[in-house]
Amino acid sequence: MTVVTRFAPSPTGMLHVGGVRTALYSWLYARRMGGKFILRVEDTDRERSTEEAVRVILEGMAWLGLTADEGPYFQTQRFDRYRAVIAQMLAAGQAYRCYCTKEELDAVRAEQIARKEKPRYPGTCRSRREPRAGVQPAVRFRNPTEGAVVVEDLVHGAVTFQNAELDDLIIARSDGSPTYNFSVVVDDKDMGITHVIRGDDHLNNTPRQMNMLIALGATPPVYAHVPMILGPDGTKLSKRHGAVSVLQYEEEGYLPDALLNYLVRLGWSHGDQEVFTREEMIAAFDIKDVNKAASTFNPEKLLWLNQQHMMRAEPSTLVPRLRAQLRRIGLDSDDRNLLEGIILSQRERAKTLKEMACNSRFFFIDTVQIDPKAAAKHLGEGGRQMLGQVRERLVQLTQWTAVSIHAALEDLAAANGWGLGKVAQPVRVAVTGTAVSPPIDTTLALLGRERTLARIETVLRNGAGP
Ligand code: GLU
Repeated sequence: MTVVTRFAPSPTGMLHVGGVRTALYSWLYARRMGGKFILRVEDTDRERSTEEAVRVILEGMAWLGLTADEGPYFQTQRFDRYRAVIAQMLAAGQAYRCYCTKEELDAVRAEQIARKEKPRYPGTCRSRREPRAGVQPAVRFRNPTEGAVVVEDLVHGAVTFQNAELDDLIIARSDGSPTYNFSVVVDDKDMGITHVIRGDDHLNNTPRQMNMLIALGATPPVYAHVPMILGPDGTKLSKRHGAVSVLQYEEEGYLPDALLNYLVRLGWSHGDQEVFTREEMIAAFDIKDVNKAASTFNPEKLLWLNQQHMMRAEPSTLVPRLRAQLRRIGLDSDDRNLLEGIILSQRERAKTLKEMACNSRFFFIDTVQIDPKAAAKHLGEGGRQMLGQVRERLVQLTQWTAVSIHAALEDLAAANGWGLGKVAQPVRVAVTGTAVSPPIDTTLALLGRERTLARIETVLRNGAGP
């Protein structure tokens, strides 16, 4: 059997980390099993669905590299098919027209609540033969009244639902439009879905969906309901916890692999391994090993993983992403040596590419603003004197490389009985404007001879003032 999974988001809110984790688990499981992964946009709720949310789903999935083998399908493009199945179920007696008015249903409901019963449809129209004048009927599924449905859930284990507890679900509204639970059933059947991996807020829908699938002659898929993600304070993950559009993680300078790595580990583990490449995730992941309990979102750990992935990445692969971040702050360069050099030397002290771009501003601008505090500390009388000596050594260099710069500065330090740090700091402040940068030799090598000497000369001439 070929495994077929799907990710079926509703574009009613922005795709955020919760949805991405469900998508990831479905994608990983399909990849692991050599199966197929389908993307299906469940946009039947026309009032609450937005184009912007659809865009975030499509661009987000592309950014994450969670490529679909089929789709995107859109439920709104399949209404004819749903209507055909409804007609077929009506003809077979598996569904019936319900002429109850809203007022009648509300009254029944109020009585049930008053009797402290669970509100449910009482089956009024189950055996009705005649239409009711002036009422546009809805269509209900004739749910079995006896027996039980057992969901053999891969995460939660066996969960039993008594059919007597499930009422006859509306599958088409009185305006003829198919309902959400019904569209899912037709799609899962038509698309040959073998494994439904979704949030456990859908577990209660599952027995009804299974009954409908059985009525349609299909074998229900295997279900795996994954627990939700909580915010660090233990409440449902919300915007304030970072449940923002997945594309915001791109803007903030996260790597898709780091976000996926973080999300796969939320509620799943493989020994004590923390850092996973995509290939390692595919090889190790099994939906059966996902935890039942909800997990807590930890932004610090995500940052840590992001840096781990930046450290392990081939620098050339990060170049386009760094450039995108630079452009966001109005800077750019197509000098690959410079960009790769920045990545290699800055990634130890930046947790995101955005932070890396911001820390690297001094490589791209003509005039640096010198931080007054750093100037006060390192460019006083003594500092400037040292800077003068550094300048003399540097102008004599015939080769401008990290190695030759290092040797020149070491030599100067040794000749005066200073440590290298003491020599480096005034230079660093003069050329970068701050007291923090990659190692001074690399910094100067990347900055280039002309700009280094010009910045040193400016300080020697004007001091560090504005
Ligand atoms: N469209 C549903 C949602 O976004 C998912 C339904 C499903 O996976 O079956 O919550």
